[in-house]
Amino acid sequence: MKIAVLTERADGEKRVAATPETVKKLVGLGAELAVEAGAGRAASSEDAAYEAAGARVGDRAGVLAGADAVLGVQGPDPASLAGAKPGAWVVAMLNPFGARERVDGYAAAGLEALAMEFMPRITRAQSMDVLSSQSNLAGYKAVLDAAAEYGRAFPMMMTAAGTVSAARVFVMGVGVAGLQAIATARRLGAVVSATDVRSATREQILSLGAKPIFVEGVAGIEGEGAGGYAGETSPEYQRAQAELVSSHIAKQDIVITTALIPGRPAPRLVSDAQLASMRPGSVVVDLAVEQGGNVEGAVAGQVVERHGVRIVGHRNVPSRLAADASALYARNLFNFLSAFWDKEQGRPVLPDGDEIGDAVRLTRGGQVVSARLLQ
Ligand code: NAD
Repeated sequence: MKIAVLTERADGEKRVAATPETVKKLVGLGAELAVEAGAGRAASSEDAAYEAAGARVGDRAGVLAGADAVLGVQGPDPASLAGAKPGAWVVAMLNPFGARERVDGYAAAGLEALAMEFMPRITRAQSMDVLSSQSNLAGYKAVLDAAAEYGRAFPMMMTAAGTVSAARVFVMGVGVAGLQAIATARRLGAVVSATDVRSATREQILSLGAKPIFVEGVAGIEGEGAGGYAGETSPEYQRAQAELVSSHIAKQDIVITTALIPGRPAPRLVSDAQLASMRPGSVVVDLAVEQGGNVEGAVAGQVVERHGVRIVGHRNVPSRLAADASALYARNLFNFLSAFWDKEQGRPVLPDGDEIGDAVRLTRGGQVVSARLLQ
């Protein structure tokens, strides 16, 4: 079993799909590891460390030649995978809804594409859940990005020269990223509030010492969709939420939005009028900016100013913490590969009918086979 680890080609992508730690573990299972030269450099993993862990480091063509599996962070261009064995696995975050042509490309190339972001949210797959590992870091970094743009302090400070009041931080969307944003803002001393469409998050918000902001008594309020993810809410709920949020937002210094609905554009949560109601110098961080944005006027890859409010729209926030994001992502991939490792065949085998395999497999035998893509 030869496993190839590629250097990421996407703009601004600093992460890597295997670290020296996971290379060593994969070698321990009996795999042969080939790592493209420089693959880990932006994530603080040098070629020499991969070699010391048991990998061969070389150019892309040599790394791909005869590979049974290719590991990536973002999906590699199917045309760039020549040399991999027919039926080789491509294991990465393949953005199946956003990059459908690439999925068709893997099928046409006879590759078996496995989308890690389709990992089901079941207990057995928790250690393989790349969305959780990366969102957690994104939530943390969003608060640091907000603090860096904010011209004031987060904690209350009582000094001889007078008192600095604590920043008020409002987190919208309390999934994995939102929970970490709440915890991080609290650690920095902010006064934190949060909202979500899933009422189950109320307890979680309270347990982190933040204040829940929820619309009460409106039909269609519960936005819980399949698999614990958010679904779409009723128009009545959306109107009530907008009113509640409007009055609350006007009193906030920092707003962090993280709301996503899988397979659909991100819901719009903050309007231009709401931005205008905020104090000049306030900061809004839109973690959903690449999925269409929660905030009106947010621009992917930029920090823009509207009504004196800075709107932070960094792309690929986990990559801004490349070393930790890579370490966790690489362990997610190792946990996936090792869970299905077949000792006799010396490679991982995904049995038909297995909940994990059926969820992540996008292509096989030249066809797109993912039920979510074929719906
Ligand atoms: P996500 O990234 O899909 O969305 C972020 C949050 O935005 C969610 O909490 C969602 O409810 C919220 N949201 C959507 N529309 C909104 C709106 N209009 N207004 C306010 N908020 C809105 O979510 P996620 O981080 O992937 O987490 C989703 C759920 O899955 C959470 O309950 C999480 O704890 C759970 N989870 C379970 C497992 C597991 O069991 N293995 C693993 C990871 C996450």
